[in-house]
Amino acid sequence: MKRIIITAAFTLLIAGICRAEAKIMLNSNIVKEGGVVKALLYSDKPFSGSEVKFMGEKYPVFFRNYDKAAKEFTFLALVPVPLETSGVKKLHIRYLMNGREYEHTEKIEVKKISAGRSDVQTGGKRAELGVNFGPENKIIKKRQEKRTPIKFDLPFIKPAEGEITSAFGKKRTYDGGSYGSTHKGVDIANKQGTKVAAANHGVVVEAATMKGHGVTVIIDHGGGLYSLYFHLKGVYVKKGVEVKKGDIIATMGSTGVSTGPHLHWQMNLFGIPVSPMDFTTMM
Ligand SMILES: [Zn+2]
Repeated sequence: MKRIIITAAFTLLIAGICRAEAKIMLNSNIVKEGGVVKALLYSDKPFSGSEVKFMGEKYPVFFRNYDKAAKEFTFLALVPVPLETSGVKKLHIRYLMNGREYEHTEKIEVKKISAGRSDVQTGGKRAELGVNFGPENKIIKKRQEKRTPIKFDLPFIKPAEGEITSAFGKKRTYDGGSYGSTHKGVDIANKQGTKVAAANHGVVVEAATMKGHGVTVIIDHGGGLYSLYFHLKGVYVKKGVEVKKGDIIATMGSTGVSTGPHLHWQMNLFGIPVSPMDFTTMM
C-alpha cells in the first residue's frame, strides 16, 4: 500500500494531473452468504491485465465502457460469495496499468442468512428420479462454462409474477429426510401458464426437457453470469437465440420433480449459485 502511495505522489509531481491509481468502489464490505461483491474500477488508462482473488479463486475483471468526456475507463468485477461461508475474508484486486502492477486489498465481512428449513413431500418422486439429477446437472454445468462479454444491464427483473414460496438458501429435506440439500434458487409460484420473462439480456444456451428439473431454459448474460429457469411448461425460445430483458421466453409449469406450478429461478455466477432477488435491486 505504501509503495502505491509513493508512486502516485511521484507521478503527480512529474505529470501534473495524471492519475496513477484506479479508483475502486465496492457495493459493500458486508455481504450475505450467497451474495455478490460488486467492484467498479475507474481509471484514466486502460488495464493490460486484471483479476480479483477471493477465497482461493480467481475472477476476471470486465471492461464496461469508456467515457470520452470524462476520459475514464470503467471496469466491473462481480465476485460470488458461496453459501455456507461466514467470517471476514480478503478480496485482492490486481491490475496492470502503464507497465506497472497495482494491488488493492479489501476486507469482506460475510454474514450468515437464515432462510429456514422445510421438508418437501414428493411422494417418493425425488428418490425415484434422484438418479437422474447427476447426469442432467453435468449438462447444466457444461452449458455455463463459457465466459463471454457482459450483455446484461443492472438491475435484473424478477422473471415471473407470483409469490416467493421458497427462499434462496433454504435447507431442505425430501420425503422425511431421504435427501438433504440447500435451495439454490428462489421458487415463484403462480398459475400454470403464467408468463416467464428473460431476467436480462443474453443468449439462450439451453432449452430442453430434463427428468428432474423439468423443462429448462438457461441464459448466458455474459461476465460469467447465467440465469436458469426450471419446471417450465411451454418454451418459446431455442438454443442460440438472443433475448432482451423482459422478453417472454416460456410459461410456468410443474414439470420434473415439482409439487405444483412454480418457477425455480436460479442465478449462477462462475458456476456458484447466488441470491437471485439481490440482482433485482443491484444498480
Ligand atoms: Zn426451487
